[in-house]
Amino acid sequence: MTTITLDQNFVSLDNFGHSMRASSFTFKPTRADEIEEAFQLAKKTGLTVTARGAGRSYNDASLNGGGIVLDLTSMNHIIKWDPAKGVVIAEPGVTLQQLWQTTEPDGWWPPVVSGTMLTTLGGCLAANVHGKNNFKVGPIGEHVIEFNAILPTGAEITCSPKKNADLFYAMISGLGMLGIFTSITMQMNRIYSGLLEVHARPVRDLHEHLSVILENAPAYDYIVGWLDATAGGRGLGRGQIHATNYLHEGDDPDPQKTMSLKNQMLPSRIFGVFPKSILYIFMGPFMNNLGVWAVNTGKYMASLPRHTFRESHAAFHFLLDYVPNFELSYGRGGLIEYQSFLPKESAEAAWTEMLRLSLKCGLPSYLGVTKRHRPDKFLLTHAVDGFSLALDFKVTNGNRAKLSQMLQEFDRIVLDAGGRFYFAKNSETTSESTTRFLGAETIEKFKKLKKRCDPNELLESNLYRRVFG
Ligand SMILES: Cc1cc2nc3c(=O)[nH]c(=O)nc-3n(C[C@H](O)[C@H](O)[C@H](O)COP(=O)(O)OP(=O)(O)OC[C@H]3O[C@@H](n4cnc5c(N)ncnc54)[C@H](O)[C@@H]3O)c2cc1C
Repeated sequence: MTTITLDQNFVSLDNFGHSMRASSFTFKPTRADEIEEAFQLAKKTGLTVTARGAGRSYNDASLNGGGIVLDLTSMNHIIKWDPAKGVVIAEPGVTLQQLWQTTEPDGWWPPVVSGTMLTTLGGCLAANVHGKNNFKVGPIGEHVIEFNAILPTGAEITCSPKKNADLFYAMISGLGMLGIFTSITMQMNRIYSGLLEVHARPVRDLHEHLSVILENAPAYDYIVGWLDATAGGRGLGRGQIHATNYLHEGDDPDPQKTMSLKNQMLPSRIFGVFPKSILYIFMGPFMNNLGVWAVNTGKYMASLPRHTFRESHAAFHFLLDYVPNFELSYGRGGLIEYQSFLPKESAEAAWTEMLRLSLKCGLPSYLGVTKRHRPDKFLLTHAVDGFSLALDFKVTNGNRAKLSQMLQEFDRIVLDAGGRFYFAKNSETTSESTTRFLGAETIEKFKKLKKRCDPNELLESNLYRRVFG
């Protein structure tokens, strides 16, 4: 067994958007017994512990200032893959990229994926990520058959919807605050082609934007909207909707070919010449209010004719991976994302108010994304029967305080409209806001489970301290 000590590895870590930083003692366990060893060390030294996957949360979910961070990216083996049943057993550090590249050539695709393939399964379960098909298949947790985890008490447990069900529904969505996943068994989704059929149509304003999503979602497997948050007046909330379906058996004349990795890989060059790895540098000069307005206006004009096309799974799902390190184009202050989830009845009014406020403050979001959702049974759920709107904001030394103030005003609007927040994204949510949207009863339930799993309060993160006080 490797012995972990505190005399090394005190390193500065940041969030995905490089806008938040914290220094921690960082260890890379390769086996479950090394996680247990870290818990013992924490108990002895009075430090707290946070699990970290790929560090792709937009906020402080996997930061732990002054404490221990367990970087789980070396626990990254696919333990078993059954191509007949589509069932995979994997270690928590396996990325979605590893997962789909293992299963797709056999005709299976992960049931739920985030907008980047670089996240780990452990991180995806802890946040209970949603995809562009949330309204249809729920979050990733609904596709987990069982998981093994190690608790801070040293106990190793197995949870499924039937076995230790209370922990199953709380650890998935539980932000790594009850225990650490050590292996995950999950059901993949059968596919009959490596391509998806995408129907693209423009929407002129927020009312049309949300109506088109609501009316069309039932007929599609996936639906997602791009929202131009730099447009005001009658164009407020305009954008483009992509409504997408799987191909049925027989629709693709050569499924083996389209499902092969060669046909799924995102190209590394633009127009076959320009390396994408440096594209973010050229995006930098446009990352200001005027530059983004011009780019968005061009994008909206180009989106006006409705059209239908076929696209690989990887290209459709992982659009944000098309430009590697796109977050660096936001400059030294980085970016934060604000994602709110609103009931379908109150979304339009609340987002109208928020989008208008951001324009009035001179702080428009540079990227807006909408999705359709349905509620789920997980304890710290972020989903509602409605929509989500994710807004990316550039952070600078000059705008940090004003931005924070505006996002607090957003919180008030969202809470008054009966909305919820997502702990993998927002960085402003306070413990008061958390109590308002989760409800005192849910928080009490979570704290009771925490006491049972983690009596010495070893598991804590910057996010946990922020939202649970
Ligand atoms: C470009 C981009 C697009 C995104 N798109 C989406 C999207 O479409 N839908 C969506 O839902 N989210 C999305 N996200 C958010 C992302 O999916 C989540 O933040 C996810 O949790 C990140 O996984 P990670 O492996 O990077 O985990 P980290 O960010 O490292 O950690 C996230 C949480 O998981 C905990 N954790 C990590 N590993 C374990 C473990 N083994 N056991 C217990 N707890 C653990 C951490 O303590 C932390 O609380 C996106 C993020 C980016 C950067």
